[in-house]
Amino acid sequence: MTEYQAPKPPRRFIAGTVCPKCSKMDTTQMYQNDSGDDVRECVACGFVQTFAQQELEDSAKAAELATRVSGLGEKTVLDEGEKPLRIIGLDDDH
Ligand SMILES: [Zn+2]
Repeated sequence: MTEYQAPKPPRRFIAGTVCPKCSKMDTTQMYQNDSGDDVRECVACGFVQTFAQQELEDSAKAAELATRVSGLGEKTVLDEGEKPLRIIGLDDDH
């Protein structure tokens, strides 16, 4: 391996891409970071995500969806201390 200073590839806008954070269209640029990873960045809100992160997120979402479908992890019981009904405004103890 020899040290080689590769010219930085220009940033390109990806047409028709919606930012997952601010939901704006055509604000997403794609470029490669120093590690050579493909990165997309929203110029409107500053959202940055590598493709690797995106894939992780996608698989996490898929796993979450599968869990919901099978019914595991479903929360049907209220947390301890969580009152289903609470009257606000009668807090008169001072
Ligand atoms: Zn954005």
